[in-house]
Amino acid sequence: MDAAQQTQWNELKARWREIYDLTGAAALLHWDQATYMPPAGGAARARQSALLERLAHERRTDPAIGRLLDGLEPWFASLPPDSVEAAHYRKMRKVYERATRIPAAFAAQFTEHVANTYMVWAEARPANDFKRVQPCLEQTLILSRQMAEFFPGYAHIADPLIDMADEGITVATLRPLFETLRRTLTSWVAVIAERPQVDAAFLRRHYPKPQQLAFGERIAAAFGYDFRRGRQDETHHPFMTKFSHDDVRITTRVDEHDLANALFSTMHETGHALYELGIDDAYDATVLDAGASLGVHESQSRLWENLVGRSRRFWEHYYPALRATFPEQLADVDLETFYRAINCVTPSLIRTEADEVTYNLHVIIRFDLELELLEGRLSIAELPEAWRAHYEESLGVRPPDDRDGVMQDVHWFAGPLGGGFQSYALGNIMAAQFYAAALDAHPQIEAEIGQGCFTTLHAWLRENLYRHGARYTADELLRRVTGRPLTLEPYLSYLRTKYGEIYGSLEG
Ligand code: ZN
Repeated sequence: MDAAQQTQWNELKARWREIYDLTGAAALLHWDQATYMPPAGGAARARQSALLERLAHERRTDPAIGRLLDGLEPWFASLPPDSVEAAHYRKMRKVYERATRIPAAFAAQFTEHVANTYMVWAEARPANDFKRVQPCLEQTLILSRQMAEFFPGYAHIADPLIDMADEGITVATLRPLFETLRRTLTSWVAVIAERPQVDAAFLRRHYPKPQQLAFGERIAAAFGYDFRRGRQDETHHPFMTKFSHDDVRITTRVDEHDLANALFSTMHETGHALYELGIDDAYDATVLDAGASLGVHESQSRLWENLVGRSRRFWEHYYPALRATFPEQLADVDLETFYRAINCVTPSLIRTEADEVTYNLHVIIRFDLELELLEGRLSIAELPEAWRAHYEESLGVRPPDDRDGVMQDVHWFAGPLGGGFQSYALGNIMAAQFYAAALDAHPQIEAEIGQGCFTTLHAWLRENLYRHGARYTADELLRRVTGRPLTLEPYLSYLRTKYGEIYGSLEG
């Protein structure tokens, strides 16, 4: 690297730091809106957020960035492809090209359209009135197809939309994977339905909020969440958010008549936060100071929530403490009953409340419908009935209305129709694949969990996954860390063992 290139590289990084800080400030405004802002602050807050987003977008698409990237092209070509600098350059170019490929006028039209659709949906959903939101969705479908067209050369029209969340993942990868998953899970759900059910009614007793919050934070801290670099607050729809490299926050929601709700939501968001907080300090305020993909991010939240937090060993250690926290409510509930209740499998209508076995079926239904819509095989008018038919076929339940059917998730009413759901299924699959690799490397991890100790697991994740941030794609990470590309086998084996033990053999 010569002196001129060094200057260009420094300028590029300085420009990126401004984008990073604008994004962090926008996240802070959003966090405040979702936690403490009084309702009357809404109108001004929408204006402030839109301004910050516009400023960030202008900086991200500034032609000066393109010129700097072009000027550094010879230096990039001379780098070892697997070096940090090469990854850094590649990622910046990818972000710049994705941002500039979509014309500013289209981006503005799309943003305005989805903001409007969201408001219509927010009223149409409680009123169970799909017809009201139908024209908006028809326009969303047209715009989603146009958006994909800005990225020509795709094999399937959904590929560019998927790539925005899960770089490198395509319909061709997902279709066979999801088909195997759908067939296997459907057969297991049918087997489990014939087995004696678990009584989970005690989870609905009265559990006061302060004790719930304190217990959740105790577990977050034990997992390794550093409260000097984060905090937990209450909200309606829990999320993790990042203002900077050293300020990564989580939110939760407490229902005093549902012990599982806040507990597992806190574990989930803690998993997301551990990932962000574990990124190498050297990547602070760079394009690499982020997760590898939404799927990889979700794999870390699901790993801590499910593979650790819903395991028998975890509760062998923590159940006495939970019982001491709620001595009256849990007086007649032993460890085994508790363990079965938090792992109870029941086909239901709502994705966000689904158990580990049925969860991915909810995702695959949405994925299939998105493809049918984008391919033109299904119209928006036919969508509610198609939704009901898919639910009946995969889960054996038929939504009585559209409120808890096609209108339940915000995704299609606040973004493009496509590319929004696969990350959840990928997260579940990758969580099991990464966890199996961790256990291979350190078989003592499970025994440690049984003692309430998570340091070996956390250190392994930090060393192999977290510290790399966005340096590698999901595929590169999977191959580096597990020696294999994305594969279903560890996930199916995990479910088969765990739920076979709870319900008896799943093989019919
Ligand atoms: Zn998540």
